[in-house]
Amino acid sequence: MKVVIAGAGIGGLCAAIALTKVGFEVEVVERAPVLTEVGAGIQLSPNAVKGLAGLGVAEAVLAVSSQPQTLEMRIGRTGEKVFSIPIAKDARKRYGAPYLHVHRADLIEILKRSAEFAGAHLRLNARVAAYVREDTGLRVGLDTGAIIPADLLVGADGARSTVRKQMLGEDQARYTGAVAWRITVAADVAPDLPHAAIVWAGPGKHAVTYRIRRGEMINFVGVVETDRWRGESWDQPGDPVDLADDFGGWAQPIPDIIAAASTCHVWALFDRDPLPRWSDDRVTLLGDACHAMPPFQAQGAAMAIEDAIVLAKCLQKDGVSEESLRNYEKLRKPRTSRVLNSARSNMGVFHRSNAWSQAATYGPMKMADRLFPAFIRSRQDWIYGYDVRKVVV
Ligand SMILES: Cc1cc2nc3c(=O)[nH]c(=O)nc-3n(C[C@H](O)[C@H](O)[C@H](O)COP(=O)(O)OP(=O)(O)OC[C@H]3O[C@@H](n4cnc5c(N)ncnc54)[C@H](O)[C@@H]3O)c2cc1C
Repeated sequence: MKVVIAGAGIGGLCAAIALTKVGFEVEVVERAPVLTEVGAGIQLSPNAVKGLAGLGVAEAVLAVSSQPQTLEMRIGRTGEKVFSIPIAKDARKRYGAPYLHVHRADLIEILKRSAEFAGAHLRLNARVAAYVREDTGLRVGLDTGAIIPADLLVGADGARSTVRKQMLGEDQARYTGAVAWRITVAADVAPDLPHAAIVWAGPGKHAVTYRIRRGEMINFVGVVETDRWRGESWDQPGDPVDLADDFGGWAQPIPDIIAAASTCHVWALFDRDPLPRWSDDRVTLLGDACHAMPPFQAQGAAMAIEDAIVLAKCLQKDGVSEESLRNYEKLRKPRTSRVLNSARSNMGVFHRSNAWSQAATYGPMKMADRLFPAFIRSRQDWIYGYDVRKVVV
């Protein structure tokens, strides 16, 4: 049985590994001429790491990652701590896997090597343009003019998926009202920055800092509400002067980190409602193609990793059939929709607009952190505690 996967991002490569391992012949078609990722980090929560373990790549990822001691929230202008969750201690004991920070390019390289080692074929510099259904299979058309016969097409082609567009029509994306800046700098720029994932909250904006590459680099994401957005893209260069303006007056080491950046990127964040369906006969969707979400819960890639494993389990059990694809959607959609809602509500929590609403939100959180630390920790249990390896299909 031949599966064509559109897109070699985190989701497409994980699907390639999972499907090859259960016996499918897999071809991944990627529009980029070279497989790499932008210079940015990614947080891999314990549920994502359990998925990577299921694919057999967790050890390789661990070797190039950095492990935060705590997950923290601070006030951006003062640096005052709102809460701090000791994740290094908790993650393995409570959730059965560590919490990791990794450079995206390192993760993609590991997934690519593993997919090829498992036997998947990677076709670069070619875009999936359309598919045609036939009685017993599909023909997948590429922009190069090539046509690939297949039994199944998986659209892992990201938030602006071509496969989804053919299946469901024009996209209903909404601008969230916020753009995200991202930079990476050498860690010696801010030697005192703790080994932690820190959300720095402020009126109409927030920043996230953490270390990557075994602690050698710092990743910075700055989310700012604005109407001057420049397009939904992974790769728009931004002006470091604008970035410094956006976070002017914030506590150290934010200004030092921003001042050290020679280049930065900015892109608009979009929000999409859950889709009416993910599949159409022998075509299905995975990752951002079916549940792109704003990054305020740091779970988009985690959801794509989980999707890949559940899809492979469903196809292994019932073969390529409408029933398998219905089962896949039934098992994944409630969770991805819940994570989407949680990400949406986090934006409001991180961006309280004035002193009164900040005090009303962060005061009780700070108190709860002192008096009921177990409560603060347990709020993420439903996300991090999930073990996709144990899902029964
Ligand atoms: C600022 C920010 C921070 C984030 N932080 C985190 C985090 O800490 N943790 C986390 O879990 N998630 C995070 N995410 C979300 C995460 O990055 C995405 O959810 C994840 O990368 C989605 O992977 P994907 O493979 O589904 O899609 P993509 O990464 O978009 O990959 C799609 C691939 O398909 C290719 N492609 C597109 N169209 C075609 C076509 N027609 N034919 C062939 N190839 C095609 C593209 O070139 C690309 O390689 C963050 C997102 C943002 C914006």
